[in-house]
Amino acid sequence: MDEHDKRRVGEQIEPGGRPKAPGRLELLQRFINSYNHDLPLEWDRIGTPKSARAWLRQKRLVAAGDRISDADVARLRELREAMRALAIANQGGQSGAAAADVVRRVSDVAQLSVVIDGTGRTALEPAGRGVDAAMATLLGILHEAQLTGHWSRMKGCRQCGYAFFDRSKNRSAAWCAMSICGNRTKNRAYYRRRRTPTR
Ligand SMILES: [Zn+2]
Repeated sequence: MDEHDKRRVGEQIEPGGRPKAPGRLELLQRFINSYNHDLPLEWDRIGTPKSARAWLRQKRLVAAGDRISDADVARLRELREAMRALAIANQGGQSGAAAADVVRRVSDVAQLSVVIDGTGRTALEPAGRGVDAAMATLLGILHEAQLTGHWSRMKGCRQCGYAFFDRSKNRSAAWCAMSICGNRTKNRAYYRRRRTPTR
């Protein structure tokens, strides 16, 4: 993958050409994938108040007049990494307890209301403003995805932490794309084996 394509991963491109997560879960997926440790730090889509504001505006998570501070960026990134850790925990074998603590701290102050439209359909919407509202919305999506059962298919790649939606029948996918991270993992194991002295 060249740099042009790599910069589009998480927004326009999914590794391995996987389909995006269904419904609103796609937004939470994009939030987690606004960065991963395989990419240069300056590519973080919510890495500065300016970039975070642009990203959140584009996703309609904040309103036009909302401001984003350095502290807001730190909170957003902390929530993102906690959500990623929960997605990685969906792979099994790893506890999401520390991440759940972070998400719980966010939920302690998040304000969500059940709103009802003219046909009686309900939706969870944030009652606050700014980054508080954005984080509440993301929390609401996490909740909805757990009710629908989709959350358990949201996984963090074992190699790079990229959040991908596992549509496989037996829910066995472990890497964002076998061609990228799967092979990297296998190659490393291969070289490790080769480096091991055989007398
Ligand atoms: Zn990966």
